[in-house]
Amino acid sequence: MAIQLPFDTIGRDSLRLWARWLAAALRNDARRWLRPGADPTPAFPAQFLIGVTYKCDSRCSHCNIWANYLQQPETASQEMTPAEFERFLDRNPQLIQIATTGGEQFNRDDIADFWLALDRRGHRTGCATNAIETDRIIEREGSLLPRLSGRHLRHFGVSLDGVEAVHDRIRGIPGNFAHAWRLFQWAREQEQRYPFYRAEISSTLTAANYRDFPALVEWLVSQGVPPNKVAFMGALPSAHYYRNVKTCKPVTARDELAGIIEELRRKHPGFGQNYFTESYLQWLRDPASGVTCVAGTAFGYIDPYWNVYPCLVLDRKLGNLREFDFDVRKLWRSPAARQFRAELAAKPCTLCFNECNRWQSMRASLGGLAKIAWRQAGRVLRADRDSQRRWRM
Ligand code: SF4
Ligand code: SF4
Repeated sequence: MAIQLPFDTIGRDSLRLWARWLAAALRNDARRWLRPGADPTPAFPAQFLIGVTYKCDSRCSHCNIWANYLQQPETASQEMTPAEFERFLDRNPQLIQIATTGGEQFNRDDIADFWLALDRRGHRTGCATNAIETDRIIEREGSLLPRLSGRHLRHFGVSLDGVEAVHDRIRGIPGNFAHAWRLFQWAREQEQRYPFYRAEISSTLTAANYRDFPALVEWLVSQGVPPNKVAFMGALPSAHYYRNVKTCKPVTARDELAGIIEELRRKHPGFGQNYFTESYLQWLRDPASGVTCVAGTAFGYIDPYWNVYPCLVLDRKLGNLREFDFDVRKLWRSPAARQFRAELAAKPCTLCFNECNRWQSMRASLGGLAKIAWRQAGRVLRADRDSQRRWRM
């Protein structure tokens, strides 16, 4: 077996992240052991998902973010600015990982400013895109890539929820499948030019399409897409983020979905070969198993107006960072945040695994990091440049 030590660009980036998570988990575990019941150490929060815009030109059936500004157009002007984002980054140097989300992020004319600000401070960047304005996305992504430092992974996910008509029906945009496929092929070409770049297909599974998912994977593989480039997540209802409580139809046949994923893993080596999928399968069979969620402790979600939530799903606003001078540690120690943590500790939440953020809880303790290391060990040592999730932290 070929052994390749992970000292390429992305390997170094991943080792740096591992070291930072290890230090944060060590500090937090030590505090928990020495002072049971104590609030988190200054090492936490360590991770945020940030919705930089709710602008979206899609018409998805499983997500109503696209309806936000049709219903309340006046709120669009209240979205965060790049200057505020820079202030947030400077006020919170302890944050280990920050990921941006939308809406359709490319619908912001200034989206590059957000990603360049992250890159300058040593963070990874990335997005998932609906591919609707294909030419504009290619133009914006194409001009961003040479401006990035090249020292941190950039992830580019193209959303595909089925083959041809299945995708177009779910997304509500005729012809979107063809656009998404063209965009993904373009992104694959960029991988050859930029060693830090990783393109993948990202699929959202609902009751309306999970049985079509194997056909999508088969089609992608028949087109030469490596199976490890196909990622998925399940849709969940969320009042404050997806705003889809009435319309979302999550997969309820958990065993059947687990069977579908396991069959794909058997049939297509590389598909779902990561701790993320393995933990998800465990959660499908037993939601209470695996990992205790530490939303509101180690990680949280920030919406485009700087409202802070524990995660994408729980409709529990903890405060607004504009009122805390963008210092999340101050907000984290507010009565509202403390109260949330106490309630979560008393009644652990098992609503999700990979749909929102619970899987990230694994990084917040030494035990969780050991689990990740164990599940990833074989893949870490194998040379497999395409396996972008190999290093996923
Ligand atoms: S899933 Fe993405 S593309 Fe679809 S409405 Fe939501 S934000 Fe827009
Ligand atoms: S399990 Fe999921 S929904 Fe529940 S608090 Fe954690 S991240 Fe949020």
